[in-house]
Amino acid sequence: MDKIQFQALRIALGMMRSTPTIILLSESGELPLDLRSQALGTKQALKVLSYENPIGNMLIQLYARYNEAPDSWKTAPPLVEALDYAAQILEQEKWPNSVFIYTDGSKDQDGKVGVGVFSEVSELRHSGRMPDFHSICSAEVYAIYITLLKIEQYDIAKAVIFSDSSSALKKVSKTGIDAETDELTLVTRRKLINKRDVQLAWIPSHTNIYGNEEADKLANAGRLLPPTLTPKADYKTFIPKMKEFIYNKWKERFVAIGRTKGKEYCTTVQQPYRTPWFKQYKSLTKQQVTTMCRLRSNHCLSPSHLYKIRINRDNLCQCGEVADVFHLIIACPHNYNHQKILYSYFDKEIEQNPISLHDILFKFNKTEHIKQIALFLNVSNLKL
Ligand SMILES: [Zn+2]
Repeated sequence: MDKIQFQALRIALGMMRSTPTIILLSESGELPLDLRSQALGTKQALKVLSYENPIGNMLIQLYARYNEAPDSWKTAPPLVEALDYAAQILEQEKWPNSVFIYTDGSKDQDGKVGVGVFSEVSELRHSGRMPDFHSICSAEVYAIYITLLKIEQYDIAKAVIFSDSSSALKKVSKTGIDAETDELTLVTRRKLINKRDVQLAWIPSHTNIYGNEEADKLANAGRLLPPTLTPKADYKTFIPKMKEFIYNKWKERFVAIGRTKGKEYCTTVQQPYRTPWFKQYKSLTKQQVTTMCRLRSNHCLSPSHLYKIRINRDNLCQCGEVADVFHLIIACPHNYNHQKILYSYFDKEIEQNPISLHDILFKFNKTEHIKQIALFLNVSNLKL
């Protein structure tokens, strides 16, 4: 097709065979055919996209699907390319005379954090690293902050900052009592408030938007730079780490002390609970919780324990055996009928057979289980 175009132009203009084709095109005021087809396609796309209609929606879907497709499929169908141009032109129209700046943050599996800023204006580009403790969201915020600094430095009159992180955008633009107050967000927001001609805009990530892809590359490159100490992270960043640190200390102590005191309990639960074990069983009464806690700790009103703490004179059950928790719930022959009812419930609930006291007191995940125990104690007239 190109050859036919050149030949036709050569004939029409009467130019020499040796004339470079760009001159042919230029002289005749013609576009190269591929660009011409793009121009026509874009024009059509703009027209279709300019008002609500089914074809427009179909095209948008097609475009989205194309962008999700693996790269190997992409031989850039002209229609898609046309849509891409149309989208860019419509975008420009929204923010006339603005410099478009794309920002991105990234964090890899080793925890390294990078930021990238991309613009057609090369002075505005940036690739950098942040301390590892920063989250991906603060990296996105930091990228916006760096962009604002550059906008100041190079005296950019109007700019649009694009980010694919809606949470970062929300962070820096939100005001009010519940707005974030970490240092980085605050300084970024402060800078932003003073710049009326700087707009923030969200773009979807990984949709092949050129500027966004470039910002992503710069952020990835930034991660490989030497580590830095700034910007400082929000103290909240460290709270989960602090909690983990303290909990581990607690766990160590729990295990160490558990070797001598509360041995059975400690070997059973292995590590201390982070939240009360009964927190998830909302409908329990206070008494039911208390009883379970006592049974689990093995410090309850059983004759065996009352004897141990020198309240009872002996540790015996009416049946003559030592009355510890195990005996009262599982073994006492005087209470056989009630035990049977309790076991028929546990039989369905606990797979292990025979059922151990440990299973009954520690291995459960429903409120009903505890209520059954409470019921059993009640009908057996056991106050533990
Ligand atoms: Zn007994």
